[in-house]
Amino acid sequence: MESIEVEQKRIVLNPADHPDRGWRCWWYVKLTGLPVGESWTLDVGDAPWATPDQATVSRDNGKTWQHTEPGDREGKRIRYPLKFESESLLVAWGPPFVPADGKALVDSLAASLAEAEEFSLCQTLEGRDTPALRVGAGSKKPLVWIQARQHAWESGASWVGKGFSEWLVSGAPEAKKFREQVEVVFVPIMDIDNVFRGAGGKSQKPQDHNRDWTEEPHWNAVTAAQKEIGEAAAAGRLAAFVDLHNPGATNRFPYFYVPPREILTPAGKANQDRFLKLVKEKMTGPLRFTGGTIESGAKYDRKAWKAISKNWVASLESDAISVTLETAWNTSASTTGGYQAVGRQLGQALARYCSGE
Ligand SMILES: [Zn+2]
Repeated sequence: MESIEVEQKRIVLNPADHPDRGWRCWWYVKLTGLPVGESWTLDVGDAPWATPDQATVSRDNGKTWQHTEPGDREGKRIRYPLKFESESLLVAWGPPFVPADGKALVDSLAASLAEAEEFSLCQTLEGRDTPALRVGAGSKKPLVWIQARQHAWESGASWVGKGFSEWLVSGAPEAKKFREQVEVVFVPIMDIDNVFRGAGGKSQKPQDHNRDWTEEPHWNAVTAAQKEIGEAAAAGRLAAFVDLHNPGATNRFPYFYVPPREILTPAGKANQDRFLKLVKEKMTGPLRFTGGTIESGAKYDRKAWKAISKNWVASLESDAISVTLETAWNTSASTTGGYQAVGRQLGQALARYCSGE
């Protein structure tokens, strides 16, 4: 927070910098003691990634989230209109999803289905648990691995994961059939420590989580994920790996980063094509998959492309799908409801894919 200018009815906010812990991309504040009935502006800036066209607010202490009206841009700043209808207001870059939300989500998922159980993927370097969910433990069925928030700021990715996982444990016939056919691991937040701190995580030191998939990873979540995914691939039972992200501000539709085609096995190429076709059929809106893909190989990141998670998974040569889903965050449909629809539709596409139909 920079300042509160009572005369101008303006709150000025510059997102906090967390040196070496990634870009300044997001922010989340609680405003209290507000003059009910007044209209103010929230002036956010100095960090271009942190200025969505519409900010996100909650008037019920985080139960539900809505977009503000679009803000007015001026240079690197944007001014959002705020109408105070209650004495306190939560305001954020996008719908927040913090470690406590991750824990609450896996608690409720595990409580809703006998074959679902929660576990901690790892202890972080700062000693925190990493809540995760497993459905179908010990079944030795094909493994589907869904993870979000290698980049801490991309809270929309956790909401996509929430939509996926709530569909997964639901009574929907296609979800039930999917659960009979596969084991699923879902990790709502990979970089717990930076989400806890409110740091961006993107391009942090010593390296980005999504450039850490090497023989010697720095981050414990990456080590733990590699171990299980690697074992499943070696046993011939890895079916799919999907890494959930939010992209740049100008992307208006969800799209996928895919491994360079030449590192896919012949069956892996055919599987990826079939999967993307199914996603196009299922992901029809409000955030629509138009078929857009980008290969992220040496041309994308000459130095570290092999250490990107989905490329590491593809290098296991298991024929599995291995993709990054980038869900647009800067559209009027980029809400909790919009994100959760993307997750549900991703689940429906995976279910069709794994059914072999
Ligand atoms: Zn990302």
